[in-house]
Amino acid sequence: MIEIGRGSVNKMSARLDASNVEYAFRLGESEIPVNPLIGKTVRLEYLGAIHCSHCGRRTKTSFSQGYCYPCMQKLAQCDICIMSPEKCHHEHGTCRDPSWGQQFCMTDHVVYLANSSGVKVGITRATQLPTRWLDQGASQALPIVRVATRQQSGFVEDLFRSQVADRTNWRALLKGDAPSVDLSAIRQQLFESCAEGLTALQTRFGLQAIQLLHDVEPIQIRYPVEAYPTKIVSFNLDKDPIAEGTLLGVKGQYLIFDTGVINIRKYTAYQLAVHQ
Ligand SMILES: [Zn+2]
Repeated sequence: MIEIGRGSVNKMSARLDASNVEYAFRLGESEIPVNPLIGKTVRLEYLGAIHCSHCGRRTKTSFSQGYCYPCMQKLAQCDICIMSPEKCHHEHGTCRDPSWGQQFCMTDHVVYLANSSGVKVGITRATQLPTRWLDQGASQALPIVRVATRQQSGFVEDLFRSQVADRTNWRALLKGDAPSVDLSAIRQQLFESCAEGLTALQTRFGLQAIQLLHDVEPIQIRYPVEAYPTKIVSFNLDKDPIAEGTLLGVKGQYLIFDTGVINIRKYTAYQLAVHQ
């Protein structure tokens, strides 16, 4: 086998070409297209070092997907309110980095429905679409509410969460294509069943801030997967530094080999070598 790249790994880049997803490994500064590797033998090798994505210092363990412990404790992007946006504390003057918050949280967000392993509700910055859906392996997706801040997206998601899941079952995701669902119909059901809560949010934040998207059409997404595994085993690079097999496909941030699956995002900031 020959080495085709090495460096600090980041989540794969994913872009839509018509409805098809094109992936690339990101290793340090270089990008290596992944789709052409499907059907071939590929080996990932963890080289034994992790360098923090923020400060570059070497860390034994990766925290919050790619940070050292001190950065995990001080960066705004590692704060509890990123996972639970309704807990945003910017207005109390306690944001870990108010200018970061201003740039990344006090900006338009989208609440969406996605079908990855069944219907789920999710949120993301408006500029992160459709990347967010591709990272999650969604085969259908539909933006349903546009809001003015991350915190507001958390409030809206909270309303919908009582009716729709907010997690992806990754095992189901890697076992096959999710059966198609009518996301537009589910949007209408949610708008109706949560009407009171939505009106309350519009009264609190304004009609401009909380906009229901009635007329958007769902998009369809196809992943480059030649075959799904019947039994799902995960590689763990912390225990065994080599993940190798015939690459069957890519979905979300998962590489699917005939020998097991691996979530590339989980290894953000690990030094990896890729062989073909
Ligand atoms: Zn750091």
